[in-house]
Amino acid sequence: MAGNGVTLRELRDRPVTDLNGVSDKRAKALAKVDVHSVLDMLCYYPRRYLDRSREATISALPVGEEGMVLIRVTSVSARRTRNRRSLVEVKVEDDTGSLRLIFFNQPWRERQLSVGTEAVVFGKVDQYQGHDQMANPVVDLVGDRTGRIVAVYPQSEAAGLHTWEFDSMAAEALRRVTKGRGFADPVPGEVLDSYRLVGRSDAFRGIHRPASMKEVAEARRRLVFDELLRIQLELVQRKVELEYTTEGLVHNINGELVRAFHGVLRFSLTDAQIRTIDEIGADLFQPRPMHRLLQGDVGSGKTVVAVTAMLAAVQGGHQGALMAPTGVLAEQHHLGVTELLTDLMVPDPTTLLGHRPLKVDLLTGRTSAPERRRITTELSEGRVDLLIGTHALIQEGLEFNSLGVVVIDEQHRFGVEQRAALREKNADGTVPDVLVMTATPIPRTAAMTVYGDLDVSVLDEMPPGRTPITTSWVEEANEEVWQAVRSEVAAGFQAYVVCPLVEESETLEARSAEETFAELSGGPLANLRLGLLHGRVGTAEREDAMSRFRQGDLDVMVATTVIEVGVDVPNATVMVVLDAARFGIAQLHQLRGRVGRGSAASRCILVGEAPTSDSEERLRALVRSTNGFELAEVDLDLRGEGTIMGERQKGRNDLRLASLRRDREWVEVAREVAVHLVGDGTGLVGHPCLADEVALFLGEAESDFLLKS
Ligand code: ADP
Ligand code: MG
Repeated sequence: MAGNGVTLRELRDRPVTDLNGVSDKRAKALAKVDVHSVLDMLCYYPRRYLDRSREATISALPVGEEGMVLIRVTSVSARRTRNRRSLVEVKVEDDTGSLRLIFFNQPWRERQLSVGTEAVVFGKVDQYQGHDQMANPVVDLVGDRTGRIVAVYPQSEAAGLHTWEFDSMAAEALRRVTKGRGFADPVPGEVLDSYRLVGRSDAFRGIHRPASMKEVAEARRRLVFDELLRIQLELVQRKVELEYTTEGLVHNINGELVRAFHGVLRFSLTDAQIRTIDEIGADLFQPRPMHRLLQGDVGSGKTVVAVTAMLAAVQGGHQGALMAPTGVLAEQHHLGVTELLTDLMVPDPTTLLGHRPLKVDLLTGRTSAPERRRITTELSEGRVDLLIGTHALIQEGLEFNSLGVVVIDEQHRFGVEQRAALREKNADGTVPDVLVMTATPIPRTAAMTVYGDLDVSVLDEMPPGRTPITTSWVEEANEEVWQAVRSEVAAGFQAYVVCPLVEESETLEARSAEETFAELSGGPLANLRLGLLHGRVGTAEREDAMSRFRQGDLDVMVATTVIEVGVDVPNATVMVVLDAARFGIAQLHQLRGRVGRGSAASRCILVGEAPTSDSEERLRALVRSTNGFELAEVDLDLRGEGTIMGERQKGRNDLRLASLRRDREWVEVAREVAVHLVGDGTGLVGHPCLADEVALFLGEAESDFLLKS
C-alpha cells in the first residue's frame, strides 16, 4: 500500500486550483488562511463537529446560557433602529421549535441568511417578549449537508470563506485521492496494529467526513500520532546521529578523585544520587559524548551529582565546566562547589609530590580583566580544573586545555545553541560530555519533546532529614503572617519575604522591594534585623547581605526573585511570598525551595488574592503538593504546552491536532516507535516514504526551530 498510494508530498505539490471548483479567486482567498496545496486543504481540520442526532435542539436550549444548535432560516427582515443602527432579524427553526436571531450592525446577514439556509448558531439564549432569542450569535453555514455529523471548519470572514466551502473542498480533495490510488501509508502495518491505529485513508476521511463521533476520535488519534511520530523521528535521529558521528572522551567515574570526594561529604548519597551517578558513569565510560538531562527537584542534591561527573574528567587529566544562567547563580555555585571540594588533591606528575590542590575558578561578566587573563592562561595550560561561570564560558577566545565534562545548569534559560557551542571546544576534535541540569521538573512527555535529543535521569528522592514544608495561602498579609515570622526568628531561625514580581521592569521591582522593606522595618518587623536584595543591588552589597544572612547576622531577607535559585541557608524556616498570584507555579515552587533545607519544620505562606480561577488553582496546587513533578503536571494542565515549548510556535504544518497536554500517552508511544525505527543509527533507509514525510514537515528551518525551544 505504501508502495503506490498517493504521498503527502505529492499532495503538497498540487496547488488547490487542481481541485474542481477552486478558481484562482478562491485560491487567493485560501492563501490568506495559509492553504496553498491540496495537502494544506486536507490538513485544514474541522474546529468542531455537530452531531445532528445528539446536539441540543431549540426546545432544549437552556435560557441564560450559551448553546449551539443547527437551524433552518424561515424568514429574514432588515430595518434600522431608532438610533439608526442596522438590525437584521432572522427567524429560524428546527424540528422542535423556533428561535429568533438578531444581528446589530451586520447588514450583510440579510443576504447571508436567506430563507432555507442551514446553519449552526452558537450564542447565549435570552427571553425577549416571550420568545427565545440569540443576539449576535456565531454563525457557521453548513450548506445542505445530509450526513449525521456535520464538520464545522474555522472560517475566515476576512477571506470570505465559509465552513461549508471548506467542507466541500475537503470532500473534493478526499474524493480525488480515494478515487485514484488512495493514500500511501508510510507507517508500518505492525505499528498500526499494535496501537490500534486506523489507516491513513480512514483517518483523513474520518476527520473530514465522519459517519460518527467514534470515527472522528479514531481519525484524530491516528493524525495526532503521525504528527508526534514525525517529531520524535527527527529528534531520535539527531540524537543517534550525534552519538555515532562525534568522538568523545572516555572517563572513569570510579577513580580515586571521585572516591575521595564522596569520602569527604558529610552525608551519604541518596539511592537516587547513586543511581543517577551510575547512569552518568556509564555514559562517560562510552567513547561517544554524553547528552543527558538531570531532572531533580529543588534540594534533591543535583550539585553533588554534577560535581562527581566533572571530577571523573579531572581524574583523567581533563577539565570540567559548569555554566549557570546568571552571574548570581554562577557565584553561588562557585561558593558551594569550592566548599565541597576543599582539600581535594588532583594527580599532577609535574609536581614534586605528584599531586596538587584542585583548582576551581569563577568567570562571569563581572570578572576583572586581569583575573580574566589569568584564568584564560591557566585554563589553556590545564592548571584550572573546574571553571564555573555564565555564558562568558562559551565566548570566543576561551580555550580549555582539554574540556572533558560540561554541566549546564539550565533552569529553562539556555538554548540548544549554547549546548551546541560548548560541544566544539577541544582542539583535537574531541567533544566533551554534556550534562544539563534542570530544577524545574517538566512532565516526562514534555521533556521528550523539548529535550528530545537528550537522555534523562531523574533525582526523585530527597536527602533524608528534611521535614516537608507546610504551605498555606492567605488573602491578606495580616498580623498572623508577621507573627509567624517573628516567632520563627524568636526561636533562632530566619525568614525570607519575597516581594511582588514586576516582570516588566527591574527598576519598578526594585522600588517596590524597597517600599516593602521600609514598611516592614518600620512596622510589623520593626525589631528584627532585615536585609534587602533585588536586581539593582550592587555585587559587593549583595555579597555582603547574603553572607550576613548566611552567618545569622540578619533575621529576615526581604528579596525579589534573585533568591529563586541557588541560595542555600538551612536555618531559614519561613518564607512569605507577597502577591503570590503573580508568580507561576514553577517559580513559586523554586522560591519555596529556599526553606525546608534543614532539619527544622518549615513553612511557606502565600499571600494575596487570586484574580483568576487559574491563579487560584495554582496557589491551591502549591498548598496541596510539594512535589515538583506533580506541580509540573498541574502547570501543563493549566497553561498548556505554550509555556513549555516557549517561543516555539506550533509548527507551520505540524502539531495542528496534537497537544502535549491532552495527548501525553501518544508522545510516549511516538517516542517508543521512533526509537524502534531509527534507534540503531541506520536511519529510515527501510522506510523511505516516512523519511520523506519527516523532511517534508520538518524541513531544515523547522527542525532547527524545534530544537531551539
Ligand atoms: P539542588 O541543586 O538539587 O537543588 P543541592 O545540590 O543544592 O540541591 O543540594 C541541596 C542541599 O542538600 C545541599 O545543602 C546539599 O549539601 C545537601 N545534600 C545533597 N545531597 C545530600 C545527601 N545525600 N544527604 C544529605 N544532604 C545532601
Ligand atoms: Mg543547586
